[in-house]
Amino acid sequence: MINTVANYELVERLHRQDSLLLIDVREESEYAYQHIPQSLWVPLDELGQYCRYWPKDMPIVVICNTVNRSAAACRYLAEQGFSNVCYAVPGMADWQGPLSHKCEASRDGITFDRSIYLDNAATTPVYPEVASVVWWCQTQGMGNPSSAHRLGRCGKEYVIKARKQVASLLGAVDKEIYFTSGGTESDNAALWGIMTALPRKRRRVVTSAVEHKAILANLEALQRAGYEVTILPVNDHGLVDPNRLKAVMDYDVGLVSIMAANNEIGTIQPIKQLVQISHGWGAYFHSDAVQAAGYLPLDVNRLQLDALSISGHKIGGPKGIGALYIRSRTPFEPLIKGGGQERGYRSGTENVPGIVGLGVACRITQGKLAEAPVLARMRDYLEARLRKISGVKIFGHPKKRLPNNLCFCAPGKDGYGLVLDLDLRGVACSSGSACSGSKHSSHVLKALGLVDSDAKRAIRLSLGWQNTWDEIYRAGDILVHLLTEEKGHKGSSNTSSHYRSDGDSPKEGYAHHNTNENSGNHLRLNGDQT
Ligand code: PLP
Repeated sequence: MINTVANYELVERLHRQDSLLLIDVREESEYAYQHIPQSLWVPLDELGQYCRYWPKDMPIVVICNTVNRSAAACRYLAEQGFSNVCYAVPGMADWQGPLSHKCEASRDGITFDRSIYLDNAATTPVYPEVASVVWWCQTQGMGNPSSAHRLGRCGKEYVIKARKQVASLLGAVDKEIYFTSGGTESDNAALWGIMTALPRKRRRVVTSAVEHKAILANLEALQRAGYEVTILPVNDHGLVDPNRLKAVMDYDVGLVSIMAANNEIGTIQPIKQLVQISHGWGAYFHSDAVQAAGYLPLDVNRLQLDALSISGHKIGGPKGIGALYIRSRTPFEPLIKGGGQERGYRSGTENVPGIVGLGVACRITQGKLAEAPVLARMRDYLEARLRKISGVKIFGHPKKRLPNNLCFCAPGKDGYGLVLDLDLRGVACSSGSACSGSKHSSHVLKALGLVDSDAKRAIRLSLGWQNTWDEIYRAGDILVHLLTEEKGHKGSSNTSSHYRSDGDSPKEGYAHHNTNENSGNHLRLNGDQT
C-alpha cells in the first residue's frame, strides 16, 4: 500500500523547504505544458537509471497527471528499497505550485519570456530535464567527488555517467573527455596544453582568420612566449582552402587549430581534409566545435581529431561548463594545476551540477541531430523572405553552413539598431558576434572581405530546437516589415504569415567578393588580426 499526500500539504512542505525529492513522471508531451521548478523530471522508463543515485531514506513525492503512473513509480521505488515514498493526489491537474511560473517551458527548452528567441548561437535555453537534474545536484547535498563517503561517491558516479554521455556525443572514449569551465577554457587549454608539451622544434601554431576570440586572443600571448603563429585567410564564404593549409605546413608546426563551424556565419570547415594535411606533417589538430556540437555529427575518430572543444550553454546545458576531448597519447601540459582532478589534466573541485547538466544536454542533443533538416527548413524559409528584399546580403557558405545560422545585412540598417528594433517587437537576435562584446565590426566579416559599413550592418539569426514554425512565420513578418517599412520598398516579400519559400536562386545575395585572397602563405599575426 503506497501512501498519498494531498496537493495542499505538498505545497506547504515545499514552502517549509522540507527536505524531499519531488519527482515529476509525466509524459513528455504533458511535461512540455508546464515545468514545476522544484521538481526533477524523470521519464518513467528512466526512473531506474536516476534512482540508483538517490539516498534510500530520502522522502520522495511523485507527481503526475494520472494516479496510475504515480502509483507505478512509487511501487517501483519501494521495490528498489526506498523507504519513504508517496504520491500527490489528486495529481497535476490541481497543481498550483508554490512558485510562480515566470518561464515558459517546452520539452526543448525553458525560454525566458515570450520572445521569439533567435540567438541560440549566443546561448541556448536550458532543457527542462537539465534544469531539473542541476537543481537536484545543487540542493540535495551532493558531495565532493574526491570524498570517500557515500555522498562523495555519489557525486563521483554522476561525473562518471556524464563523462560517458559527453563521450558518446563525440564518438570518443570517456577517459578522453575532460571537464572545463566552458568553450573558452577548452580552447585555451588545447592551445597552451598541447603547444607547451611539444618539443621546441614544433613551435608554430596554424589557425584561421575566422576563429573565435577564445582562440585568436591567445595568439599574441603565444607569440610573446616565443611561439610562431600563422593565420590562414578564408574565401568570401568563410572557408579555409585546404591548399592554403598545405602551402604553409612544415615540420615546425606543432598544432593546427581550426573551428568546425563559425559562430557568426555558420560556415562549416572541411575538417577531415585539414586534419589529414596536418597529420601528414606530424602536427596535432584541435577543432573548436562549440557551435557545431548539437547541429552536426561530430565523430572524433572519423575526423581523426586530436582535440576538440565544446561548451554546455550552446547545447541546452548550463553556463560555465564545457569539455575538452584529447585523444590518448596527445602531448598535453595542464593549464590549470592543483589537486589533480580530471586525471591531472584540469585541477579544481569538479562542478558536479554543471557536469551532470552537460551530460544530460549531450544525451538530449544526440537524439536531435537527425532533426537538423527541420531547423534548416525554418532557416531557409526566413532566408527566402530576406532574399526578396533588394540589397539584402546573406553571409556564409550557401550550402556548407550550420542548419540554424542566418547572417545577413540589409541596406541602410545599422546592425545594432536593427537588433533593438527587433527586440522591441519580441525577436531576440544578435548583431555580429554576441560573444565578443566588441563595438568594432566583426573580424569574421572583415576576413570575408566585407567593407566596414556592410560588416557593421550584419545581423545574426540563430535558430534553436525550441523554435516553432509559428514563431518563424511571425519573425519573418516582423523582419520584412522592419526592413521594408521606411522605404515603402517595392521588392518586399508578401508579409502574410503563411508566405513560403519559393526556391530563390541560391546565388542571389552573395554579391560581395573576397579581396584578401592574396594574403600570403605565412601571414603572421599582427595587432589587426584579433
Ligand atoms: N568558441 C566559439 C566558436 C564560440 O562561439 C564561443 C562562444 O560563443 C566560444 C568558443 C566560447 O564559449 P564559452 O562561452 O563557453 O566560453
